[in-house]
Amino acid sequence: MKYISTRGDTAHKPFSEVLLMGLAPDGGLMLPEHYPHISEQTLQQWRGLSYSELAFEVMSLFITDIPAADLRDIIKRTYTEEAFGSREITPVRTLSDGLKIQALSNGPTLAFKDMAMQFLGNVFEYVLAKEGKTLNILGATSGDTGSAAEYALRGKQGINVFMLSPEGKMSAFQRAQMFSLQDENIHNIAVHGMFDDCQDIVKAVQNDADFKAKYHIGTVNSINWGRIVAQVVYYFAGYFNATSSNEQKVSFCVPSGNFGNVCAGHIARQMGLPIHRLIVATNENDVLDEFFKTGEYRPRGAENTLVTSSPSMDISKASNFERFVFDLMDRDAVQIQALWAEVGVGKGFDLSLQLDKIHEKYGFVSGRSLHKDRLSTIAEVYQTDGELVDPHTADGIKVAREVREPGELIVCLETALAAKFDATIHEAVGGGVAIPRPAALAGLEDLPQRVQVVPNNADVVKTIIRETLDAAQ
Ligand SMILES: *Cc1c(COP(=O)(O)O)cnc(C)c1O
Repeated sequence: MKYISTRGDTAHKPFSEVLLMGLAPDGGLMLPEHYPHISEQTLQQWRGLSYSELAFEVMSLFITDIPAADLRDIIKRTYTEEAFGSREITPVRTLSDGLKIQALSNGPTLAFKDMAMQFLGNVFEYVLAKEGKTLNILGATSGDTGSAAEYALRGKQGINVFMLSPEGKMSAFQRAQMFSLQDENIHNIAVHGMFDDCQDIVKAVQNDADFKAKYHIGTVNSINWGRIVAQVVYYFAGYFNATSSNEQKVSFCVPSGNFGNVCAGHIARQMGLPIHRLIVATNENDVLDEFFKTGEYRPRGAENTLVTSSPSMDISKASNFERFVFDLMDRDAVQIQALWAEVGVGKGFDLSLQLDKIHEKYGFVSGRSLHKDRLSTIAEVYQTDGELVDPHTADGIKVAREVREPGELIVCLETALAAKFDATIHEAVGGGVAIPRPAALAGLEDLPQRVQVVPNNADVVKTIIRETLDAAQ
């Protein structure tokens, strides 16, 4: 299997090269040349496999340049009961109104990012060792991505992580998660500024081509194909878990921001998994809801992006969206270049002529959820089912209930645990309610923390990277 760029001007590449790439050199995103089709018979054979066996079957269709035995070993070491809290890895439960919830949030950092990031850590290590390379990840986080990346890459050979975060802006839990890591290859850098300032520093370093090449600077954001391919697996797992035969169809409801999660669902559907609809749930930042309702894509700048109580969905320019539009436009790279040329100059585009195709052929629908919906959904689920769901998952449940057709089987993806967002949970159900936390994280905030606080200045960050790496030589 080789990979192509959505913009059409990049040579076909094998997986292990695509893995170490951010954007394609032509500015597009990498995708497989075609989606493998799963026959009815194969689907039948996959039902009943363990999560890691299923992951191997799905991912080995896309990853053909790593020997099967090695890939199987990497996957087996990744999806363990120890790391994900249960043998099923992504267990499915049913709420009293019949909605199903698939837990993707039982990994080390309690958010679905672990599902892909844990794999990325192991496959990075493997590919780098094989090619005698090193990689230094420079990232910016407002909370979830940074901790998922650090937990996945801690202690890995050949990899350093430099993670920028806005000083004093993350929750105490999120700070403790990142800053309590004592591994020598993890470097936490708190910047006097906002998340956008951290991201600007990352861009400034990325734009210094000499520095980037000399210090092998890479990224782990969700445009990385290695993350998407690992996410395709849990749609299969959720489908098998929620159904008793392959005659049945399932819809998935996905709390969305950067479109990475639901993009994997789209790929699973294209492979032939019997998915009825893909339901995109947004919060107040509803660029994607607008698109799936009207066909108009109008990305917004940071100044028009609201800070909400489901912060991991506060995104108004969905980086993975280009992958879906590429398929929608029958993989016409010239059209993608033209559409994203508009996005590049701060405009959007109008695909309202494609609306029928978006709904009928690709099965997409959408809805949005506001702060008050989030609070009432959390309170309602607590009352009727006695459990606490996190604010992002609540957005999904709200939208699923709204669009549900009679008899439709909907699996809502649980993207984080309530323990990460105690302020919003207490706002919804009252401050006296205890929020369950996995035993391994008891007392997390009391552990010693390691972080350097720096001014909002890219040169200072470069100096830290240079001195750290030169000293390690
Ligand atoms: C990242 C994240 C999302 C959004 O996922 P995308 O792949 O960016 O669409 C939703 N919920 C939580 C908790 C997240 O961490």
